[in-house]
Amino acid sequence: MIYLNGEFMPIETAVIPVLDRGFIFGDGVYEVIPVYSRQPFRLGEHLSRLQTSLDSIRLNNPRTDAEWRTLINRIVELNETEDQSIYLQVTRGVAKRDHAFPKSVKPTVFIMSSPLLPPTADQLHTGVAAITAVDNRWLRCDVKSTALLPNVLLRQLAADAGCAETLLLRDGMLTEGAASNVFVVNQGVLLAPPKSNLMLPGITYEVVLELAQANDVPFDVRNISESELLGAEEIWITSSSREILPVTTLNGVAVGSGRPGPVFRRMRELYQDHKAQDMKAARG
Ligand code: PMP
Repeated sequence: MIYLNGEFMPIETAVIPVLDRGFIFGDGVYEVIPVYSRQPFRLGEHLSRLQTSLDSIRLNNPRTDAEWRTLINRIVELNETEDQSIYLQVTRGVAKRDHAFPKSVKPTVFIMSSPLLPPTADQLHTGVAAITAVDNRWLRCDVKSTALLPNVLLRQLAADAGCAETLLLRDGMLTEGAASNVFVVNQGVLLAPPKSNLMLPGITYEVVLELAQANDVPFDVRNISESELLGAEEIWITSSSREILPVTTLNGVAVGSGRPGPVFRRMRELYQDHKAQDMKAARG
């Protein structure tokens, strides 16, 4: 069951007019929210990032936070699995094709759910492979825009190489993955690129840094060069759907020992504990 512009319906019956600016221009923003045991995780943070994305593209938020919460909880109820991935999208609506904003149209609001499939035991045990590529996206990667063609093309490079992710380098510095943030461990210190217009401020990225801070995991938020990435002891990718995933092969070469490292194992434990506590608190 999905939500579209005020109505709940089966996804098979949901239809969007061809002049929707999301379809024509990719003129919209989105969020992906993980749900564990029917409790949305870090929903406040996701709604606040949605507001920032909407502000960036000069689109009024069509729902209040309370309304978003109600709609999302209803979609969670209407779908089967305990763990879900909630996708929500707002576009600038349906109007005659013209690049400049239409006067007074209603935004299109869409929410769907799919089963949340966190990393498999095998992926956590052996890690995944990644490649690097030049980050050729625009200069507003902090906006969670539905216009994802550059990300699609960059991720396909990984798929073509039988890899899980493409790690992006702009001017010789690590930005993020095609659909994830990236962490590096060097000399036992966890490193993360600083938030800027060149990367999406990931909710999972934020959680990892909070957990590092709260648990005395040595970390530093600073620019990471290509040579530091290629010589890293550990590399992880993070996202709401993949949580924290170790990258153990980069460009065909083993990362560190070629196995998920000790800092990853520690952070994975902290992350699992944190999620469990958060779910418990949400249930009251
Ligand atoms: N960067 C990009 C480009 C992404 O697409 C994503 C996942 N949507 C992330 C980072 C990770 O963000 P989050 O942890 O909020 O899922």
